[in-house]
Amino acid sequence: MDISVIIPLYNEEESLPELFAWIKRVMKENGFSYEVIFVNDGSTDRSWQVIEALKQKNDEIKAIKFRRNYGKSPALFCGFRRATGNVVITMDADLQDSPDEIPELYRMITEEGYDLVSGWKKKRYDPLSKTLPTKLFNATARAISGIHNLHDFNCGLKAYRQEVIKNIEVYGEMHRYIPYLAKNAGFNKIGEKVVHHQARKYGKTKFGLNRFVNGYLDLLTLWFLSTFGIKPMHIFGFLGSVMFLLGFIAVIAVGVTKIYDMTHGNPYRLVTESPYFYLALTMMIIGTQLFLAGFIGELITRNSPERNNYQIEKEL
Ligand code: UDP
Ligand code: MG
Repeated sequence: MDISVIIPLYNEEESLPELFAWIKRVMKENGFSYEVIFVNDGSTDRSWQVIEALKQKNDEIKAIKFRRNYGKSPALFCGFRRATGNVVITMDADLQDSPDEIPELYRMITEEGYDLVSGWKKKRYDPLSKTLPTKLFNATARAISGIHNLHDFNCGLKAYRQEVIKNIEVYGEMHRYIPYLAKNAGFNKIGEKVVHHQARKYGKTKFGLNRFVNGYLDLLTLWFLSTFGIKPMHIFGFLGSVMFLLGFIAVIAVGVTKIYDMTHGNPYRLVTESPYFYLALTMMIIGTQLFLAGFIGELITRNSPERNNYQIEKEL
């Protein structure tokens, strides 16, 4: 099969028939063999009935219905597991992404050899309250992930070589960083294509402003996981050692000063009256705790089922 289109949806009943008809037309015009996987993320409207009705007339449809609303990432995850097309395309259900982009995305993956092509909504039809923070968000994501050529990490319209989606695990709200996940899994050829964007025609957006706060926290998590995830001791042990050493030096300094003053007839005070004593104490305690965090981290990674999961590209 050439293409799997995965569509996560939450309360998008009005858009679905139009969206599917459009995809079907594009696929037919280009002679692609395809499947469309609808993932109904616990919709409370009639989305599922609409999908059932569509499915009756169209064998190309596969659909999953979650018992409750889990979020876009879990929906994508389950779609990815079921995808069988050589090229996998994800698309929002709200008609903001255009199926007309599919042939070119497909060509970029199959002919230009990209692992992942992300859409770029260069001209957006969203309110300013969303476009402005988005710019900031993308700049941070570029800097931290090291993928400098992407302008729009969170674009719902993306295309992947099948291997990519079978080898990454989208969870929580990590759908915003799939290119970063792909890069961490060793898929380096990440490209971008300017795509048309439309204002939302039906329904309303499912993400509020808290997307930005959560987005940043998730980015930090990913950065941490990709840098120290399998070697937690390398960060905690280092910080702990530095702390402990500084504390130790300070304690010695306090002690030596006191002994010096005592033996040279200078006025001297109790060690506990010096602020440096308390600083030293605190640093040594925090240092030890950081070290312990490192050891515990190592124990946890040693038990993680992924500890020996490697991306093997070829084998002879
Ligand atoms: N979505 C979902 N589960 C959720 C929230 C959203 O499957 O919990 C889907 C939604 O139906 C849409 C896509 O994710 O197809 C993108 O959502 P939305 O259009 O609200 O995001 P925006 O375009 O405002 O970034
Ligand atoms: Mg949308």
